[in-house]
Amino acid sequence: MNLYGRLMVNLSEERDFDRERFADLINAAIKPPRNVSAEDIYVRAIYLVSNKVNSYGGRFPDDELSNLCELIIDSPVLVGHNKSGLPIARNFKAEVIERGDEKWVKVWFYWLKESEGSKALLSNIDGGIYKEGSIGFIFSRPECSICGDDIRNCSHAPLKRYPTENGEQVCHYDYRNIEKVLETSLVFRGATRDTRVTNELIADMAGETSEADTNRYKLKRIKDSAIIAFGHEDILFTVIFPQFNLSSLKTKKSLVGYPVSREKESHLNLRLDKLKGKQESGKLEITKKTRNGFHLNLKGGTLDGKYLIRPAFWDRKRLILFTRLA
Ligand SMILES: [Zn+2]
Repeated sequence: MNLYGRLMVNLSEERDFDRERFADLINAAIKPPRNVSAEDIYVRAIYLVSNKVNSYGGRFPDDELSNLCELIIDSPVLVGHNKSGLPIARNFKAEVIERGDEKWVKVWFYWLKESEGSKALLSNIDGGIYKEGSIGFIFSRPECSICGDDIRNCSHAPLKRYPTENGEQVCHYDYRNIEKVLETSLVFRGATRDTRVTNELIADMAGETSEADTNRYKLKRIKDSAIIAFGHEDILFTVIFPQFNLSSLKTKKSLVGYPVSREKESHLNLRLDKLKGKQESGKLEITKKTRNGFHLNLKGGTLDGKYLIRPAFWDRKRLILFTRLA
């Protein structure tokens, strides 16, 4: 199964490029229908990824970096993950660069001066509005640094400590079998609030953007229990229902669920693959917000209808009450 990774990246401060040489490179690597000349193009660069472990516990190992460089060339650059719009620019050159003791993949992208909005993009980049970006890619093997197995199948969890022959080590996973770079995106500074975008190892998401996941819910049923992942900016969490009884939901009894923290969720996503169960997804709409909770309109298989979701406490533990509304 393919995995979809997304990481945040930083734009390079560089402004002056040898555009003559780059125009030749673009004509060779991208082969545009009409050759470009140095006067036609704007060029900027981005430091895409490094060989250090990122905050999700993932890492591009040294020996995958050159493969990644090849995959980046000719991939599109989007603004704000907007897949409905046309790519605004294109990556045409990628190189492994040493910065201190780290290796980085630096990527150069270009766009045409005469294209619509091209001046605005230039000033937004140089003015620091688009200060960050992200890369979306597909890989199939998150390799555990402790045992070498697929980390979804072994007993280790990213960023946890384990005793090894060489002393205690923090577990991470290497991105292996990187198959495709979908796109790089430029985002508004501070747009990283949308952390779902960076929640890695969410299976079955290849090619989908965060927007596509917003206003959706995913339900996975395993025997009597269910896991519902809500994708809305107001309810960005997953709830586990140990007793998921549909008939009591229909008689307006509340089901009790346990919200899962962001930290645990990435661990959970790793484990979900192993559990066999029925999965479905549907649309989610918040129709009303009150102090007591959210009124939801869910459109999809099992959960078609209106619901109230509200927080509760029991024995100092946070719970979620999930009730069907008439
Ligand atoms: Zn392991």
